[in-house]
Amino acid sequence: MFRFFNLLILISFFSYSQNSQDIESQIKSIYDHSLKKGKSYEWLEHLSNQIGGRLSGSLNAERAVQWSKEEIESLGLDKVWLQPVMVPKWVRGNFEYASIESSTGNSINVNICALGGSVATPNRGIRSEVVEVKSFDELKDLGVNKIKGKIVFFNRPMDPTKINTFSSYSGAVNQRTEGAEQAIKLGAIAVVVRSMNLSNDDFPHTGSMYYGSVKLKDRIPAAAISTNGANLLSSMLKLDPKLRLFIKQNCQNYPDVLSHNVIGEIKGSEFPDKIILVGGHLDSWDLGDGSHDDGAGIVQSMEVLNQFKSLGIKPRHTLRVVLFMNEENGLRGGKKYAKIALKKGENHIFALESDAGGFSPRGFSFYSSDSEFEKIKSWEKYFKPYFVNEFSRGGGGADIRPLKSGGTILAGLKPDSQRYFDYHHSSNDTFEAVNKRELEIGAATMTSLIYLVDIFGF
Ligand SMILES: [Zn+2]
Repeated sequence: MFRFFNLLILISFFSYSQNSQDIESQIKSIYDHSLKKGKSYEWLEHLSNQIGGRLSGSLNAERAVQWSKEEIESLGLDKVWLQPVMVPKWVRGNFEYASIESSTGNSINVNICALGGSVATPNRGIRSEVVEVKSFDELKDLGVNKIKGKIVFFNRPMDPTKINTFSSYSGAVNQRTEGAEQAIKLGAIAVVVRSMNLSNDDFPHTGSMYYGSVKLKDRIPAAAISTNGANLLSSMLKLDPKLRLFIKQNCQNYPDVLSHNVIGEIKGSEFPDKIILVGGHLDSWDLGDGSHDDGAGIVQSMEVLNQFKSLGIKPRHTLRVVLFMNEENGLRGGKKYAKIALKKGENHIFALESDAGGFSPRGFSFYSSDSEFEKIKSWEKYFKPYFVNEFSRGGGGADIRPLKSGGTILAGLKPDSQRYFDYHHSSNDTFEAVNKRELEIGAATMTSLIYLVDIFGF
């Protein structure tokens, strides 16, 4: 009897270690394949250089929809389709212009860009004195007397001491999203916001801004100024508080237009009704090519399904790639997808998003129950050889967040974040800014996680 039990333990240990070795070697083959034969970099070249920036509602966004649909069709998936979604349409118009005009009559040009959703300046532009603030509290303390008729300059930098730069971003971005709404209350005539960038350079960074409940006729123009421009303006204001800033932009909002989420899937062999989703967002801002944000996430997500097909891994669960439209200025694609999934009663057991740049992957963050996280955490060991070490609690990504209410486990790829905000929403977010190996290792890391979810299930 005793011997029999010993034998059983030995057998189960042996089969477990075999199993574990099989997993390790399968994961190794995923990384090898991604680095030697992966398609992600070639796809990104096309998306960035042949299509380029693809703001929702633009012709380029539609070109990206058509191109990505054709590419995922060529992978030989079981089903590929477009999901219609109405998206906002905002256009930048001509390039923006700004200059600092000192009281001695000299003027210096500074780089600005309109914030997404902003109204235009009058044709003749806006010329006014400037009030610099670091926070909404400071703005309120100054009050109507000091703000009325002026341009408010929000100049609180991203905190450089935070190692996770997304935390620095969260700590500064309300100036961009809500600055205009707050300044309108005190009679400001425009806002200029320091770019969400940890580097000092000449690139202005755009991004969404919202007017809240402010009526159309009361809205004021909102622009971002480069970090170098912000530093210059701030130092000049100290010498000459009466200086004036001239800004001109002619962006415009149009009625919503029809666009699409692009979806493809491989049917599960054992659990066809349980869906594992991987995705990113297909739209981008218009200044650069959106190569990091979120071209990288798009091609990595496509690569996950390509790897399953190329390596002959037959998923037990249905594996679905979703290229979401309109994350940047509306999240309409993510909301529409979740709404339809809930309505159809689809069971998404797991969703992974890549939307934090194409840099070296460091880990994942997960939104799940404690027991689910414990299970996921036990897979961390498989990623050690690839320097992917950080499995933490947190969110997934903006596009998959609406699936939360359906009980889906959410995951987000966490690449190294030190350089991300050098490029985020700016004209230097181009193909050259993405490193081939880093992109491919990220794609392999995502594929490996999806592979583990598929074999262990939830
Ligand atoms: Zn993004």
